[in-house]
Amino acid sequence: MAHVLANHKGWCKNIHGHSYVLHVTIGGTPMPDRGASDDGMLIDFSELKKLVCDQLLDQFDHSLVLSDKTSESLINSLAIYNFKIQKLNFQPTCENLVIYFAGRLIAQMPEPLQLIKLKLFETADSYSEWRREDNDINSQF
Ligand SMILES: [Zn+2]
Repeated sequence: MAHVLANHKGWCKNIHGHSYVLHVTIGGTPMPDRGASDDGMLIDFSELKKLVCDQLLDQFDHSLVLSDKTSESLINSLAIYNFKIQKLNFQPTCENLVIYFAGRLIAQMPEPLQLIKLKLFETADSYSEWRREDNDINSQF
């Protein structure tokens, strides 16, 4: 995924990309339904993967993420190439993206599962982390 940090004083004002890595941690109680396909699981990994793909990856993978503060002339000049552009109403920093991604996953997380932690790596050693324990879920989203 590529992004631009509008008004940034350094190199991040340019279109550049990262090989983002997202770690998703969920919490809950394993399914007690003996004999069921998901017996002993919080959620089948394939369902969790589908949730993450539907809510995040399908939209953001290989896209260019821009804020609403990006110049219209840049957006219009890129639009003619039919690029996959995501225009958000916030600066697409790793910190803001992980908060936004948490909100999207929480909104679709099947009950009674809970999103516990979301860790978005921008590089191998720099990341932002959203933790349930640090956030008031009911008021944030
Ligand atoms: Zn960047």
